[in-house]
Amino acid sequence: MSTMEPVIGLEVHAELLTASKIFCACSAAFGGEPNTNVCPLCLGMPGVLPVLNRRAVEFAIRAGLATGCTIEPRSVFARKNYFYPDLPKGYQISMYELPLCVGGGIDIVVDGTARRIGLTRIHMEEDTGKNIHDAGVSGSLVDFNRSGVPLLEIVSEPEMRSPEEAGTYLRTLHSILQYLEICDGNMEEGSFRCDANVSVRPRGTTPFGTKVEIKNMNSFRAVERAIAYEIKRQERAIADGEKIVQETRLWDPDREETRAMRSKEYAHDYRYFPEPDLPPLVVDEAWVSDVRSRLPELPAERRARFERDYGLSAYDADVLTQRKDVADYFEAGVAAGAPAKDMANWVLTEVLRIVREEKLDHALVIRDWPVSAAQLAKLIQLVAAGQVNRNTAKALLPKLRGTDQDPAALVAAEGLGQVSDRGALEAIVADVIARSPEQVAQFKAGKDKVLGFLVGQVMKASGGKAAPQVVQELLRAALTR
Ligand SMILES: [Zn+2]
Repeated sequence: MSTMEPVIGLEVHAELLTASKIFCACSAAFGGEPNTNVCPLCLGMPGVLPVLNRRAVEFAIRAGLATGCTIEPRSVFARKNYFYPDLPKGYQISMYELPLCVGGGIDIVVDGTARRIGLTRIHMEEDTGKNIHDAGVSGSLVDFNRSGVPLLEIVSEPEMRSPEEAGTYLRTLHSILQYLEICDGNMEEGSFRCDANVSVRPRGTTPFGTKVEIKNMNSFRAVERAIAYEIKRQERAIADGEKIVQETRLWDPDREETRAMRSKEYAHDYRYFPEPDLPPLVVDEAWVSDVRSRLPELPAERRARFERDYGLSAYDADVLTQRKDVADYFEAGVAAGAPAKDMANWVLTEVLRIVREEKLDHALVIRDWPVSAAQLAKLIQLVAAGQVNRNTAKALLPKLRGTDQDPAALVAAEGLGQVSDRGALEAIVADVIARSPEQVAQFKAGKDKVLGFLVGQVMKASGGKAAPQVVQELLRAALTR
């Protein structure tokens, strides 16, 4: 173990899924032709007045309650002043001294050890526009569609001690926001972004080392890789007697390294002051209790329930509950009659494989499932009843997709019913044995593995329809006769 201890804190920016922007009525939708969702207010024209989006506040309260924060009865928007072309007003409306949510934490489990990572705060702010440098014209362009989209900034305490803990914290937070249906969590499109503050200090000491901020990580894996790289870089620099400089570094995913971008601004560089155009945000107890009463079951509770009620392993329950829509799909299949363990098995292998291959999980809610939960439940029941074998069932998935066809009808129509009729199979078995003297001799000499080959031959001769269990039995019986 290294003599140095990493200290990691994460700042997450999550775009809220409100219909309109935080201070004006423009659409907050992602995409669209550049500069079409804009108005004088989000373009930063003089003389306009911001009006706070109540739904955005409700979403922020939801996030605060789900992570155990205290919702402050009175919080204050502040101006964060800096110049950048994507910020037309020359300041960003954010919260500074008095944020909406304070305290709370995210529970994580890494290598079997449970820890709670504290949250410093969750505050509301507006997103900036976006500079476009590769538009094929000389100079840069700016798209203000994103300007004024509501954001949550979720700031953790510097309590993570490894890249794995940071990755788990981030996945857990991501999952919670998706369950709350307040953020689509798309890291590639930037609706869930993470900056990491990383420093190292001699193990067993308390004062923090100089921290470096890392930006430009657009996947969980990138966050873990970038932090791991940065820890090594700082350890090496200190070992070589160099001083760590407080700065912002960019992660380069192609070269797998961080590199200096600019020296880090300090808070006083932003000359924060209370936003004069907005009154303090007052959230009364009634509003908070109303939001609390409508919170959904959260991933940790659902995971525990899946283990308890369906007898699933901790791992399976974890994977099935990371996304709300996947957990809903699983439970819909069970409700439609599939045994829980079989349903879990099919979802974890076949369904999620296709979901990942086709990136269907890039949206908040998967709509184009490879097969509906009800159809999958039927298919699983057909396999369990021995009416179709598992491989045939798998091959039926593409045919069922996008239809509401009954799997049993499809099996009948395609003549795919499993052959477990011993008479019919015995003939095929006899034929395969006659054609495979070499393998038969090997089997008789004790090479049990060869049986797999012979089973395969029978399956092939049956057009994939034979019941594998029955084929095995018949082969063994014939070979040991
Ligand atoms: Zn606008």
